[in-house]
Amino acid sequence: MSDCVAYFSAEFGIDESMPIYSGGLGVLAGDHIKAANDLNLPLIGVGIFYSKGYFQQRIREHGVQEHLFPKIDTAKSPVAPVLNQEGRPVYIEVPIADRKVVLTAWSMKVGRVTVYLLSSDVELNNEQDRRLTDHLYPGDQDTRIRQEIILGIGGVRLLRALGIQPGVWHLNEGHSAFLTLERIREYSAEGVAFDTALEAVKASTLFTTHTPVPAGHDVFSLEMMDRYFGDFYWQLGADRDKVLALGRIGDVFNMTRLAVTVSSKVNGVSKLHEEVTKELLHRWMPHIPQEDIPVTSITNGIHIGTWLSPGMKELFDRYLGFRWETNLSDPKTWMPVREIPSHTLWERHRRNQAVMIERLGLPLDSSSAGNLLIVGFARRFATYKRAYLLFEDLERLDRIVNDLLRPVCFVFAGKAHPSDRPGQELIKKIVEVSKSERFKGRIFVVENYDMEKAKHLVQGVDVWLNTPVKPMEASGTSGQKAAINGVLNCSILDGWWNEGYNGRNGWAIERGTEGNGEERACSDSTILYELLEKRIATTYYSRDEHGVPTEWVAMMKESICTLAPKFNTHRMVNDYWNKLYVPIMRRGSCFAVNDLEVAGRVAAYKRFIRDNWHEVRVGRMDVSSSRVTKIGLTMIRFEADIILGPIWHNDVKVEAVGPGFNGICKSELTFVEVLENGMYRYEGSYLNNTDSIWWLSKFNIRVVPISRDFSSDFEMELSAWGDK
Ligand SMILES: *Cc1c(COP(=O)(O)O)cnc(C)c1O
Repeated sequence: MSDCVAYFSAEFGIDESMPIYSGGLGVLAGDHIKAANDLNLPLIGVGIFYSKGYFQQRIREHGVQEHLFPKIDTAKSPVAPVLNQEGRPVYIEVPIADRKVVLTAWSMKVGRVTVYLLSSDVELNNEQDRRLTDHLYPGDQDTRIRQEIILGIGGVRLLRALGIQPGVWHLNEGHSAFLTLERIREYSAEGVAFDTALEAVKASTLFTTHTPVPAGHDVFSLEMMDRYFGDFYWQLGADRDKVLALGRIGDVFNMTRLAVTVSSKVNGVSKLHEEVTKELLHRWMPHIPQEDIPVTSITNGIHIGTWLSPGMKELFDRYLGFRWETNLSDPKTWMPVREIPSHTLWERHRRNQAVMIERLGLPLDSSSAGNLLIVGFARRFATYKRAYLLFEDLERLDRIVNDLLRPVCFVFAGKAHPSDRPGQELIKKIVEVSKSERFKGRIFVVENYDMEKAKHLVQGVDVWLNTPVKPMEASGTSGQKAAINGVLNCSILDGWWNEGYNGRNGWAIERGTEGNGEERACSDSTILYELLEKRIATTYYSRDEHGVPTEWVAMMKESICTLAPKFNTHRMVNDYWNKLYVPIMRRGSCFAVNDLEVAGRVAAYKRFIRDNWHEVRVGRMDVSSSRVTKIGLTMIRFEADIILGPIWHNDVKVEAVGPGFNGICKSELTFVEVLENGMYRYEGSYLNNTDSIWWLSKFNIRVVPISRDFSSDFEMELSAWGDK
């Protein structure tokens, strides 16, 4: 199979029987795979078979988190050994430090889509190496880099052994970025020069970044890199410095930097996250304004077929017309939700709640579901997610949960990474609070949060709460799962909710004050308490004569209609396909045909530009303005003399760059004449409604190298500015 997309991810949350995910990243990867299958797109997944998975969580009496690591029973799991043409298990080798480690693979079928999962648990390996793929996200750096070698390098070798030639290589987070080094090595082994190989690899690679949290970006010391790649550098046809330069930030090797360098497109997972990612990358490319950093975004979604409760599905089957599931992203598909009688929708929701109470074993009366407002908070206990926000003022929380007329109860669930002490402390604190006299029966902690428990929670609670530190939640997806089930979101305006919230389909905890972490926590929690007291509980408990909270149900409908068409993986994977996969597939094959003709040309061009860029300077520049009285605007004129040395004037873009409405304003200057050898005059004009001296004084002239073959004007991360 060629021209498929190879989707590499360190975790996949496809099914609860395969606990090889830790949280949102993995579940998103699983939903991506399922949507690709629904949409019949040629995609394959590559990951690791962690034989003991992520851990199973037990919470001891005093809230101490215990970690259990049961081995996944392959005989009872939806996996099969990957076989070669002779019907024997496929074995491949990867170099790990001074030795070779043998890998085998398991395959998991999701309809027509296959996910390949690598394993080092092979008899041919020594005991230590067999344990390399036991756990997801090991705490120690050595196991981590080894797993990333297995995923990246082993992943490419596995696909080759199976005769699969992907047209797009999608790095779902930076863990798999070593695959690009292996691909360069392959070219090098065929005699292709490093720079040409790099261009060919870059043209066909996509990088999706998922987190602004530093712990989410893997960093290895240069000493470690030498230890693991010392024998690999030369195989790429380059020297150590050149290889390390691909990912080097100061004294460390950063996997995110590597992924950015070797990809032709980078995307974040919500609009806000796009901005945050630009800010992050701007630190690495300070001479490129943040607004110009080439990052796009595709907002995450969820796989509706996985997360919709059977009861709601039945209702949608009845009201949305047959074939509704083939048109999930069309807002019209969802319009009939408004026609569902309020008591019918409410009844479904009550039944979902009863199921949740029973399946999760909550000490509540399932027959009176719908009579007690239940708020859910479930996700990884990472500190930035601020599960403690609700507990900032225990007196006030006491009054809220124990209100005689409008009581509220809370269900918490989530795992903290085994080496995340603060996260575990938080679980302990919440367990303690839940056991104290005044909160007993009002705050519950459910242990071992996984996809199965997540389903019950997002289908059964009334409100889904999310309180991250803005803008740390790149997207978040559990609230989307809640939304399609008619559960209302109450969340910080971060990630996807910043795009989803419309003032009527849930509640926003809008940030009151800036300030340090504590001040923000204090103001955010105050806003949360106010919402709970004045808006959420009152709406929930205002019932008609049949006990139906009509205003609440109207919000449920608004929430489903406005959020479901947008935040689902059919829309998301279609966006990936149209905006990223197809262009990259074309680009990759264009770079590769005729013995890498274009890749070679781009490499040579870049080398020439890089070697001569030090000569590029902005000489004289001039800004003048004149009033165009007829239309009441000001014409700004720019003139600049640019010294380009041996670089051709058609190979650069000259722009006036100043402060603008959305951050910056740019106006391209055009070439007018050659002044003398290597010096060129450029001119341009710009119509504006102000001629403020301050604004004009902020303009500067910028020169960047361009090419039809570049994916953006900033592909070379080079620019020259006038002296200001
Ligand atoms: C959906 C899901 C997540 C992701 O939740 P966020 O809202 O992104 O924090 C984490 N864990 C499980 C088990 C999930 O199903």
